[in-house]
Amino acid sequence: MSFDDVARLAQQKGFFFKSADSYPNSPAGFWDYGPLGVSMRNNFVELWRRSIVKRDGMLEIDGSQILPRAVFEASGHLSGFTDPFVKCAKCGSVFRPDKLLEEKTKKQVPEKLQDSEYDSLMTEAGVKCLKCGSALSGTSRFNMMFRVGIGPLQEDAYLRPETCQSIFVDFPFLFKTQRVKLPIGVAQIGRSFRNEIAPRQGLIRLRELNQAEVEVFFNPKNANDEVRFGAGIDEELTLHTPDGETYGLQANKAIEKGLIPNRLVGYYLSLLVKFYRAAGLPVEKLRFRILSPEDRAFYSKAAYDLEIELSVGWLELVACNYRSDYDLGRHSDISGTDFRVDDGGEKVLPHVFELSMGVDRSVYSILETALKAQEERRVLVLRPYIAPVKVGVFPLINRDGLQEEAGKIFKELRETLDVTYDESGSIGRRYARADEVGIPFCITVDYDTLRDHTVTLRTRDDRAQTRVPESTLAERLAGAITPPKLTE
Ligand SMILES: [Zn+2]
Repeated sequence: MSFDDVARLAQQKGFFFKSADSYPNSPAGFWDYGPLGVSMRNNFVELWRRSIVKRDGMLEIDGSQILPRAVFEASGHLSGFTDPFVKCAKCGSVFRPDKLLEEKTKKQVPEKLQDSEYDSLMTEAGVKCLKCGSALSGTSRFNMMFRVGIGPLQEDAYLRPETCQSIFVDFPFLFKTQRVKLPIGVAQIGRSFRNEIAPRQGLIRLRELNQAEVEVFFNPKNANDEVRFGAGIDEELTLHTPDGETYGLQANKAIEKGLIPNRLVGYYLSLLVKFYRAAGLPVEKLRFRILSPEDRAFYSKAAYDLEIELSVGWLELVACNYRSDYDLGRHSDISGTDFRVDDGGEKVLPHVFELSMGVDRSVYSILETALKAQEERRVLVLRPYIAPVKVGVFPLINRDGLQEEAGKIFKELRETLDVTYDESGSIGRRYARADEVGIPFCITVDYDTLRDHTVTLRTRDDRAQTRVPESTLAERLAGAITPPKLTE
């Protein structure tokens, strides 16, 4: 299904919608999640927490969203977290030169060009203002962090542009108090804030976004540890190289070929594929785009963007980056704190492998790939543990005590499951409404229920209806909505 189909469903059913939309000129790039969207996102996050964070023995933290200026001096965001922009001399519209060039030439523009390089490409391609056709200014830079002032003196601070900085800053404290050893992953889920120049496409490019980030700290000497990383690098990975080749390779073969630097990286790339498979994404549409040295930061030893092919093109879901000891080294230098830790009697400044996941984009991707058209109707084929609502409870008709009986079942299931109750319209229409928002199971109460305490249990994907005793419902449903182990 297309981006517009998902946007329509999201709007009609309230998965997500524009923030402050009742006010004219509300800024773009801010979106609210409605009840179904929140529930689905929570389920996705819980799967991430269960199958990546807890399964791998990582530590999860929840850091402040406002951080002092010095943190971003160390991280490099103050000087480097900028986007290029050009301005129309006549109408004042602002554009990103890379986006204008891509639109005009239909070719991808490299990520890290100098301003002068943009300018000459723009002149060459004859790019003009998209709104009024006038000439554009030369390329300038804009820092994408939102600045905030703390206290009456308005001390400089920033809303974090990514969740990971508090992971780096907290690392020595966590290492000491949590009694852990290298390698150790530290994870964080939460909001990040980026003052994008031209946010668009709903949840895909936001100014306030949800990230799920993991930083794996390790001693580079042990990045090939057989015991820790030997198992679990069996996953078939699709690797897309900078020169445009695509390989389908087992992670351990990719290490032999030099496309992946070590077992640790192969292990975590494999883990991501397993995770997204469990979340319900079609893994044949996933690829790791290997970033060329020119597209990577100078300190990065290897970087992969996990992308999915959707109606909008290839969309980045997770940025995977071998960041060397850059982050801890910088925080160590600027803060004056020693960030080295003990690893088997040796003092080391750990290296970092980062998995930076876009939660909103992941939720969008799951919706787009799960939305199917079946005989003029929409069905959202979500995994039961991702589905925002697990069960719909319906009385067949609204009389003779059927409502009361259905109400009783609804209230009981509501104690442990996300359940909805619906008594309006024909039973067929109620099933159709449930299918549209991905409810995997429906329970219908009829006259037989009053006699023998059995109900009709209908499953969304095959529309099969079976007669089951009321007393077995809770157990049956709990089993059906448990996520699989990733090894399966
Ligand atoms: Zn203009």
